[in-house]
Amino acid sequence: MEAITKAKKFVYDFTEGSKDQATLLGGKGANLAEMTRLGIQIPEGFTITTEASIQFYQEGKQLWDALKEQIENALIDLERKTGKSFDDPKKPLLVSVRSGAAISMPGMMDTVLNLGLTTESVKGLAVQTGNPAFAYDSYRRFIQMFADVVKGVPRVFFERELEQVKAVHQLEFDYQLTAPQLMDLVTTYQKIYQRETGEAFPQVPREQLYQAVEAVFRSWNNERAILYRELHHIPDDLGTAVNVQRMVFGNLGNDSGTGVAFTRNPSTGDKELLGEFLINAQGEDVVAGIRTPRPIKDLERLDSSSYHQFLEIARTLENHYEDMQDIEFTIESGKLYLLQTRSGKRTAAAAIKIAVDLVHEGKITKEVAIKRIDTKQLDQLLHPTFDPTAIQQAAQLGKGLGASPGAASGKVYFDAERVASAKHEGIKAILVRKETSAEDLAGMVSSEGILTARGGLTSHAAVVARGIGKCCVVGCSAATIDEEAKTLSFGNQVIYEGDIISIDGASGDVYRGRISKTKAQLTGDYDAFMTWVNDLKTLKVKANADTPKDVIQALKLGAEGVGLCRTEHMFFQKDRIKSMRKMILSHSVSERQVYLNQLLEMQRQDFYEMFVALNGKSMTIRLLDPPLHEFLPRDPEEIQTIATEMGQSLTDFEHYMDSLAEVNPMLGHRGVRLGITYPEVSRMQARAIIEGAILAGKEMGKKVEPQIMVPLVGIVSELSYIKKEIEAEIADVFLERGEEIIYKIGTMIEVPRAAITADTIAKEADFFSFGTNDLTQMGFGFSRDDAGKFLQEYEDKNLLSPNPFHTIDVEGIGKLVEMAVQLGRSVKPNIELGVCGEHGGDPESINFFHKLGLEYVSCSPFRVPIARLAAAKAVLAKV
Ligand code: ADP
Ligand code: MG
Ligand code: MG
Repeated sequence: MEAITKAKKFVYDFTEGSKDQATLLGGKGANLAEMTRLGIQIPEGFTITTEASIQFYQEGKQLWDALKEQIENALIDLERKTGKSFDDPKKPLLVSVRSGAAISMPGMMDTVLNLGLTTESVKGLAVQTGNPAFAYDSYRRFIQMFADVVKGVPRVFFERELEQVKAVHQLEFDYQLTAPQLMDLVTTYQKIYQRETGEAFPQVPREQLYQAVEAVFRSWNNERAILYRELHHIPDDLGTAVNVQRMVFGNLGNDSGTGVAFTRNPSTGDKELLGEFLINAQGEDVVAGIRTPRPIKDLERLDSSSYHQFLEIARTLENHYEDMQDIEFTIESGKLYLLQTRSGKRTAAAAIKIAVDLVHEGKITKEVAIKRIDTKQLDQLLHPTFDPTAIQQAAQLGKGLGASPGAASGKVYFDAERVASAKHEGIKAILVRKETSAEDLAGMVSSEGILTARGGLTSHAAVVARGIGKCCVVGCSAATIDEEAKTLSFGNQVIYEGDIISIDGASGDVYRGRISKTKAQLTGDYDAFMTWVNDLKTLKVKANADTPKDVIQALKLGAEGVGLCRTEHMFFQKDRIKSMRKMILSHSVSERQVYLNQLLEMQRQDFYEMFVALNGKSMTIRLLDPPLHEFLPRDPEEIQTIATEMGQSLTDFEHYMDSLAEVNPMLGHRGVRLGITYPEVSRMQARAIIEGAILAGKEMGKKVEPQIMVPLVGIVSELSYIKKEIEAEIADVFLERGEEIIYKIGTMIEVPRAAITADTIAKEADFFSFGTNDLTQMGFGFSRDDAGKFLQEYEDKNLLSPNPFHTIDVEGIGKLVEMAVQLGRSVKPNIELGVCGEHGGDPESINFFHKLGLEYVSCSPFRVPIARLAAAKAVLAKV
């Protein structure tokens, strides 16, 4: 029978592929092929595909015959093209073996250079080039690299010998070694190889090649590579390609060299070639840092023709790839070769500048520019970050959850008041607490950053820190905090009050000591870029803001209104909390009314100021939500004062306070339930909102339409009840003032029952705002405040990822949202729908909300720019 299946193609010559084949050929291979196609001078070679590396595992981790045959054919081709041969020691073919996955992955196998050299062919190379020092230099490099990369023999064994020879002969640089010295070194290296591997150094070029290819394939599954893929969510079945390429020699003398360059400045984005090179050196010498490379401009004096050729190629490549390129090159006896090109890594500021410039240069569209900017990068731009080199030397103490981005260093203090007074003295402080509560607010504001041992991404510390744009790490369970003894310990490392630590609010890392950082700075390019973002996106981005100051900040960052004003946050200030406490601790409605009137004055003024700041943009105000005991005093002195002021005995008073305590406050007397037991509180708030709106409307000469939001509704009757109370109060206001305005009453959808009965609820609601924090809490039955303790374990064991409080769980909680959207619209097609949970600032979740066709997301002011970019990217993702 005739074989009817054509053998699968596992080997591609550089003349066969293109840049669009990165999945098959790896990034490096695809770009080598592309450059070959463009007619740029590339040493000849071929790529063994990523599919071959996957097959390798099915073949029991060895090269199989069909593959060997294809490699053999490619080799014959390469020998023909180069006029050199693996079998001819007089004219040896030397190659590099370079790994290259589709997604660049540090931690995989490195490159082996000069493969093909043997004790025989090194002599041939010496004769052929008339340069024995060069030949033996190449051989000693090859032995070391092969030993290191293929056999895992530590480099230091070889480097130690090299240093010793240099010391003995009083040489400063490698290239000063003479041929006899290098020959001796080669002999020593071979002995080390034999000692460490138990075999002689392989003397058959083909054998060397196969071993190197197998090593690349195996490196796909080494521990570092697996870990890297896990961290970066890279699938395990992509595999890695191997490139086999004729060597060109930068170490052939003083008219040879090697270098790297970026087509634009990767730190600033400026349009200037930035690079460096070394004369008489090979590949990795530039990065190894043994000799100091020279700036690329110097090449002009040394080899003007290569320099100008390089400029031309750099320009061609950038235009062709329509992006800043990171390029490797080598000059062999005055002849320029390119060895690699890829999109260059860059800082956030550079990324924006380059994208904006490329649009202005007519090279890319605005859409492409938006696609290229990562939301994480934008974070980098908006907040200070630690200096990447300084970080490498820093002593890490532990890791928590990155709750609010930024980088902060300061002295550790364990109580908020101490932090506030430190700020007064001009001392930078980090507030360290087991967890924070309302009373810590002033200290949080005064601090450089906040670290808590407990709590998750929606804990008090996390939410408040994001709200005020403060760097914050929470749930650092490796930390033991003794607030009495004033110590913070990580295992046996103890940090005392006044010691300096640094925290990274993006990664959650905690370090000992101070670390230098780079400032956040928004350039002119940022504004241009964000205008394009706004033009593209359809989802509105509003902010969670609780004070007039928040509103101003949010508007500056591009918020299109306030999607969530949490009224309880207005009561935390010192002068107000007392009235609040007395209101809660009143025994009768009439007594309570006295304090409610005090609160009314304050709230009206706040709302008025916020409406004015918003100047016509919408604001959704949530009625009192948290359990009342959160507002109660804890300090014995304070308890005594309030009891006296209210004319109550201390015992009575404490007894009453006790009666407010709950076993499970998150599921207790909070949200709409407060309004049902104390309708006068809801009425007061409704009055404050409407009166504030009327006043602001008068001042601005335009109507304000407030949105009043009832939290934690699970049953439609709850909403109907409160609505009636509020409407009655508002009717009174209108009557008293002889003036009416338009207002809306809606509800949060955050109790699963509300999502399931959203059609019934929609009949009573003008709008829905999804409170995805509570919906996640109640949907999973995960306590927001305690889940941090075990969710990490869930992630580690691959049970649940990512953290559902961070990124919406599309499968479950997302389905509840989707269901409520459909049910709500089935009753009221135009019902306004938005999200006000923390997910409103998370790019992945925003993509989901965009797909559901929601009208807006609302997030903390400092997340507004990221949310805007994510909303624009969601438009592009939806094809
Ligand atoms: P990496 O992925 O770490 O950049 P490379 O495969 O690009 O690894 O190679 C490492 C170094 O070796 C680079 O400086 C590269 O330019 C150089 N190099 C690779 N192949 C050759 C070759 N065929 N001739 C000369 N130098 C080479
Ligand atoms: Mg490279
Ligand atoms: Mg809630």
